[in-house]
This record gives sequence, C-alpha cells and structure tokens, in this order.
Amino acid sequence: MANYEDIFKKVVSHAKEYGYVFQSSEIYDGLAAAYDYGPFGVELKNNIKNYWWKSMVNMHENIVGLDSAIFMHPTTWRASGHLDAFNDPLIDNKDSKKRYRADVLIENHISKIEAKIEKDCVKAAKRFGDDFNREEFVSTNGRVLERQKKIDEINEKMNSSLSSGNLEAVKSLVEELDIKCPVSGTNNWTDVRQFNLMFKTQMGSTADASSDLYLRPETAQGIFVNFLNVQKTARMKIPFGIAQIGKAFRNEIVARQFIFRMREFEQMEMQFFVRPGEEMKWYEYWKEFRMKWHQSLGIGEDNYRFHDHEALAHYANAATDIEFKFPFGFKELEGIHSRTDFDLKAHQEFSGKKIQYFDAEINESYVPYVVETSIGLDRMFLTILSNSFREEELENGDSRAMLKIPAVLAPLKAAILPLTKKDGMPEKAREIMKSLQTDFNCQYEEKDSIGKRYRRQDAIGTPFCITVDHQTLEDNTVTLRDRDSMNQERCSVEKLHSIISEKVNIAKYLF
Ligand code: ATP
Repeated sequence: MANYEDIFKKVVSHAKEYGYVFQSSEIYDGLAAAYDYGPFGVELKNNIKNYWWKSMVNMHENIVGLDSAIFMHPTTWRASGHLDAFNDPLIDNKDSKKRYRADVLIENHISKIEAKIEKDCVKAAKRFGDDFNREEFVSTNGRVLERQKKIDEINEKMNSSLSSGNLEAVKSLVEELDIKCPVSGTNNWTDVRQFNLMFKTQMGSTADASSDLYLRPETAQGIFVNFLNVQKTARMKIPFGIAQIGKAFRNEIVARQFIFRMREFEQMEMQFFVRPGEEMKWYEYWKEFRMKWHQSLGIGEDNYRFHDHEALAHYANAATDIEFKFPFGFKELEGIHSRTDFDLKAHQEFSGKKIQYFDAEINESYVPYVVETSIGLDRMFLTILSNSFREEELENGDSRAMLKIPAVLAPLKAAILPLTKKDGMPEKAREIMKSLQTDFNCQYEEKDSIGKRYRRQDAIGTPFCITVDHQTLEDNTVTLRDRDSMNQERCSVEKLHSIISEKVNIAKYLF
C-alpha cells in the first residue's frame, strides 16, 4: 500500500506544481475539502465536460440539455426525501476525537479482506504459472471461499442494518469486527448517529424558517421539476433524456483523498424518462453505454468494474456503480440508478401540479419512470490525472515526469517552440501558433533550453511539441515531437493542422 500512497502523493503535488489543482484559500492555510482548478486544470475539466456533453447530448437525438439554478424551492428537498433521508451514519472515536462514517469503516475492513484474497491469488499464480486459472481458483480454494463468505456476511449485516435504520446494529458490527481507529488504534467508539449532508442557508433578509434554503446535493432535482417545461418546449417523446452539468454540495463527514470527496463538487447527470415497465431494459442499456464511454478513452479495461448495489437508496429499484481503480483502490466513479417514478410522483404530490406524459403510441397517460446516469466531474478528473501520471527513466540517464493524458482531453494540444529567440524564429513560431490556435489550445514558449521546454510540456501532458529552427525559415518544415514516444520527425508546416486534428479528434474516440 505504501507504494500506492507514494504515487498518490506525487500525483497531488504534480497537480499543484503544474497548475492543475490548488487547495482552496491556500494563503489562509486552506479550506478543508474545497479545491481550485488552475490554468491547465480548468482546460482539462472543460474538455471532460465537452467529451461527456458531445456523447450524451449532441450525439443522442433524444437527449437535451438544461442548466437549472443551484437554489431551489425548499419543498423540493422535502419531496425528494433529502431532508429526511440524505444522512450518513457518523461515529466518533473517543480517544482520538476523530470522526468517521461507520459504513466507510466497515467497507475499509472489507477491502482488507479483499486484499488478502488478492494476495492468495498472486501466490497461487506464481505457484501454478501458466496453468493458473483465477476464476477456478477463487471458486474452489478453501481459504478464499472462507474469506469471501466473511465478506458476504459483513455486507449482508451492514446493508440490512443501514436500510432499516438500525444504528445500534451498525455500532455492534463495528465492535464485532474489532475495527480500530487508524489514529488512536483503539476501539473506543461512540454510538452511531445520523447526520444530514445538506448545507443550509437563508434567502433574503428574513430569518424565519420558511426562507431556509439548501444548496443542492445533486443536480437531478432541477431536471425533475423542469420535466414538463423541457418535454413541452423541446417537444420530446418518451423515451428521452435531460442532461445537466453543475455544482452540487454535500457536507461530507470525512472529506479526504484530494478531489475524490469534496464538499463542493460538480456532477454530470442525465435523467432518462421511460415508459413504466421498460426501466430495466434502459437501465441495462445505460450501464453498457456508460462503461463503453469510459473505455473509449483507452486507459485500461481492467481499471473499471461494476459494483451492483444490494442496499438501495429510497428512490431506486436497481443501482450499480462504475468503479475505477484509483491509486487508493477501486472506488465509485459513476452511479447508474433506476429511480422508478419516485421523484416525479413526489413533486406531483408536493406541488399539487400534475406531472404526466400522454403517450400517443399506447394512448395512455402516466408518470414516467427514470433511469439516471450520474458521474462526478472531479472524480473523472482524478481518474484521468492519476492514470496519466508517469515517472520514466530515459535511456540517457535522465528521468521525466509526464502526464499521458488522452490527447482528446489534454489541456494543451501543442506547444510551439522557437529554437532560439533570434533570426526570425519567434515571428515564424507565432505565425504557426496563429494558424492553429482557433482550433487547438496551443502555447508559445521561448524561455529555457529546448530540452527543458520538452520536459515541461511532458509534465503538463501536451501531446505535440513543434520546434521552429533555422531550417524552418528555409523550407517551411518544423520538428514535430510526440509526447509518448518522444519521436521527432520533420514535417511541413502545412501538414500540422491535419496531424494534430487526426490525433485529438473526438470522433476517433467516441463510438
Ligand atoms: P459516495 O458513496 O462516494 O459518497 P454517492 O453514492 O453518494 O457517492 P451519488 O449520490 O451516486 O454518490 O453521486 C453521483 C456521483 O457524484 C458519484 O458517483 C461521484 O462521482 C460524485 N460524487 C458524489 N459525492 C461526491 C463528493 N463528495 N465529491 C466529489 N464527487 C462526488
């Protein structure tokens, strides 16, 4: 694990050093679980948003966009169930005074058992060599089966106590598993309490309770309350979807692991409205589609897995997570939920306004069912950043830190570098820059040796470096350097646009 922690630390400091992510309010020693995105961070974020929006909205005739307000009428949260049920089970260690989510403590305990299974597999693979069959091993080996049984029992106990709200049973489970506080090393725990995750604020100058507002904990409710507005004005026919990218706020009990869990974050959500009874078909469709979307970026199929939920949220009849292998293990990156007609029905009831759809094909009116895909933009950012980070030893004895970001998402597509600051090279470089910058985000850089400039662009993750030298002025060719292979080839200035375009074209990635 130490190794992973080291890598993660390096990713975090690289993100700061190269203008990707800063701690919020750093000059005041920072604000916990809030982060600012720097010059390259904001570009990467925008590119991720664009990649998502293109594939979800622009490439689906039956999905449209929305940008709803963060502030919503307070009754929204009563209807959605967030006021009553958007809680996390909180537990404190009496010795260290540290606060934890009880379910996370239990999940971490499970991860430890999973790691033991993994170790068993690695050992067996060594022993059996080419004959090793993992599937067969995990389904027959006595020790692994015992460990798996233990995991299943813990999951079963945790899920049934959480879904029935039996907090005493949650505490008993923490005690039974002898889970210790990582700081004090003791198992001296308080009782488990529920903690609502919504941030409360007030609108206007009156201080009565009716003006209490909540910062939205998910963007989805803005979509539900606008269902009829969008359906009517955009003349949508079921099945259809509404997509939105925007900020969400959760007063997380424990917010750590950098931008993985923040109190202010961004979501990219799509609610897909379907005929009642057809939700499972669409749920399967969106599961597959979203997994393909992740894999289209080419950062390793083995890095993703589904984790189907056994304990379901109050609104869902099926739910799965797409988990990604972060440096600290497999964790949720995206949720896909079959939300039934829970939300629309609740808003119908609380608002007293009819929210129905007339389906001309079957001559029936109904409250549509909903399948949701919900991905955290910041978690997607961390996925890209942590997976791209490399430290390489080079043949000449040098080393380089680089970000192997998929070219389509890279903040800068090309850096244009005059070899020296004289003999008309800067002017020529700027001319090239001008011809490319309307279509690709480029950077002009003339300071430092060419080697240093290459290293810096590798660290930022720029797929191409274009070097202007004496020969350029004679025959209009430049050196084009590829970030990943470090190959350099001579290429005519006229061809640059099409070469870069070929590499960063979104259509080449999306299916
Ligand atoms: P978790 O179990 O990690 O708390 P969740 O199941 O509560 O997440 P959802 O309500 O399904 O998350 O939200 C959808 C997505 O929003 C998540 O898959 C995640 O990518 C993102 N997300 C949720 N909470 C946070 C947070 N505090 N910081 C950053 N991203 C978040």
